[in-house]
Amino acid sequence: MRIRSFNQDGGILYLVATPIGNLEDMTYRAVNILKTVDKIYAEDTRNSIILLHKYEIHTLLESYHEFNEELKTEQIINELLSGKKIAVISDAGLPVISDPGYKIVKSAVEHHIAVSTIPGASAGISALIASGFPVMPYQFYGFLNSKQSKRIEELKELKYYPHTLVFYEAPHRIFETLNDMLVVLGNRNVCIARELTKTYEEFIRGTIEEVLKIDSIKGEMVLLVEGYKEQGKDSVNPIEQIEEFLSLGYKPNEAIKETARLCNKDRKELYKEYIKYKNKE
Ligand code: SAM
Repeated sequence: MRIRSFNQDGGILYLVATPIGNLEDMTYRAVNILKTVDKIYAEDTRNSIILLHKYEIHTLLESYHEFNEELKTEQIINELLSGKKIAVISDAGLPVISDPGYKIVKSAVEHHIAVSTIPGASAGISALIASGFPVMPYQFYGFLNSKQSKRIEELKELKYYPHTLVFYEAPHRIFETLNDMLVVLGNRNVCIARELTKTYEEFIRGTIEEVLKIDSIKGEMVLLVEGYKEQGKDSVNPIEQIEEFLSLGYKPNEAIKETARLCNKDRKELYKEYIKYKNKE
């Protein structure tokens, strides 16, 4: 199925980037699209009014957020099917990225409605390019779970990912998250990119232990973490590795499976080796 975005007579859904702090980070095209569509759906209309006012955009504005997403998606699809041009924006950056919008895009695609993306600022990728960490490939994760037990599970999944990790984090949880990372990932290099594009923009770089010594870190922030450094399959002691996984809360069969994968060993052989070692203890 091929759907063109330009010279569309029918309905079209525009996903429009808005600034992540500095209101000047708005593209000419984004302003033009927002001025000419039939309606703009915004995550928080009170927030978006400030931006729309600055750029003298007087288009009809309606709310679309995580609590009314289901209901509004149906309404938006009906509007698009009737030929309307609709823009979706979020409070900051790209809609859909750790923000509402996915349901409407998915549904629009299923209905063969044209979807067009109007690029611009996004916090994760803006932070990544200035972090000094390798950028390709990288893992954009968004927010870790706010519950510690779930967050630890997520970090365990990411522990052996060898490339840069990009997280969004709230200021009231940054130290908790860094502490969990120290336990699960080890003392890695991190970069906190805070208040991007704003007056107090700052990059905090150092090891997790160094950053944990700072009294307070305020504002909006992206947390970037150096990827796992491959020690070489031969240098990993499989027994020590199994024990490490077990101490992190892995179930025995998971610990053996992961170690076998890491050390490129046969799982059953490794199991026998481990049992032998335990019996000797
Ligand atoms: N859709 C947005 C995007 O494209 O980046 C992200 C929305 S998410 C709800 C908000 C999170 O993005 C914040 O908690 C913070 O982690 C990050 N963020 C947003 N603006 C930022 C900024 N100016 N500086 C650093 N991080 C920012």
